[in-house]
Amino acid sequence: MDRIDLRSDTVTLPSPRMRQAMAEAPVGDDQYGEDPSVNRLQERIAELLGKEAALFVPSGVMANLVAVTTHTRPAEEVILEEWAHTSRFESGGIGSLAHVLTRTLRSDRGLMDADEIARWISSGNEHTPRTGLVCVEQTHNFHGGAVVPLDGLRRIREVCHARGVPVHMDGARMWNAVAASGVSGADYAACADTVSFCLSKGLCAPVGSLLCGPAEFIARARFARKRLGGGMRQSGVIAAAGLVALRDMRERLADDHVRARRIAERLASLGGFAVDLAAVQTNIVFVRLEKLDPARVVEAAAKDGLLLYATGPQQIRFVTHHDVDDDDVARLLQFRERLAARG
Ligand SMILES: *Cc1c(COP(=O)(O)O)cnc(C)c1O
Repeated sequence: MDRIDLRSDTVTLPSPRMRQAMAEAPVGDDQYGEDPSVNRLQERIAELLGKEAALFVPSGVMANLVAVTTHTRPAEEVILEEWAHTSRFESGGIGSLAHVLTRTLRSDRGLMDADEIARWISSGNEHTPRTGLVCVEQTHNFHGGAVVPLDGLRRIREVCHARGVPVHMDGARMWNAVAASGVSGADYAACADTVSFCLSKGLCAPVGSLLCGPAEFIARARFARKRLGGGMRQSGVIAAAGLVALRDMRERLADDHVRARRIAERLASLGGFAVDLAAVQTNIVFVRLEKLDPARVVEAAAKDGLLLYATGPQQIRFVTHHDVDDDDVARLLQFRERLAARG
């Protein structure tokens, strides 16, 4: 029986076109700036997002860490949302390696209140750390892949810029937000000084993320990447897959959203599974189990060839992606019905 992997969109495999582009990619030593495929990818994305420059890095975590390191100095404070990936799921990197403090704020489905941010921004003094950066996330992973609204992001940019504080957008799944809302990537990117996103999630590339921003910032970010061990050599082999990912994979993300919606609506109607349907806007569905133990559901599902991710004591996450089709969704729903029948 085929496995259906709904744990994450990070499990997507590179397409045959990506494999071919990788085999044929012109390459050089990127630490001399001489890899033509990396340069093309960086130029292409900077142009697409209306930023001056971009930097190819091995992972989304490194993109965020390089961004925080480059924007801030040690002992400054970074304001983030309380469930932000950068504060909760990046192994404490910004604290232990960028030496910053974090102040996390509650939000409305991923959107922090701009006035509350303004109240916390500090220009620093002998006692109080200076606010060095505000981070926003798009889409918001642990708010169920919610699309953070453009006007709210613009308000955050306004209050930050009025106080001279830069904004970084962790746009790991920004292209899902673009597909779901119709807002352009450039319009989202304009809400932040720097923006990063993953090529290796819904876009299906095997490796890599991009960090985009002003040319002067990206030049300093190259230094931070090198210092963190993320400088690469003939990385055009993977950048070539990224170029195909950007060309072939952005539009089809809308299909993943339709399937996530179908899963959410069916599960919500079956009872025992609580789903905040309004939060299901892209390819992520968080389900709260009213009685069942998530670990046991995950185990039972695995026996049926369905891989799920228990994200909390009462919670399971489903993520749709390129390698999940309509038949797979049907099989998931049949499993749920069998589970209900078993009680
Ligand atoms: C996945 C993810 C990252 C990190 O990406 P990796 O490529 O796994 O390092 C960062 N931010 C968010 C919101 C993510 O979902």
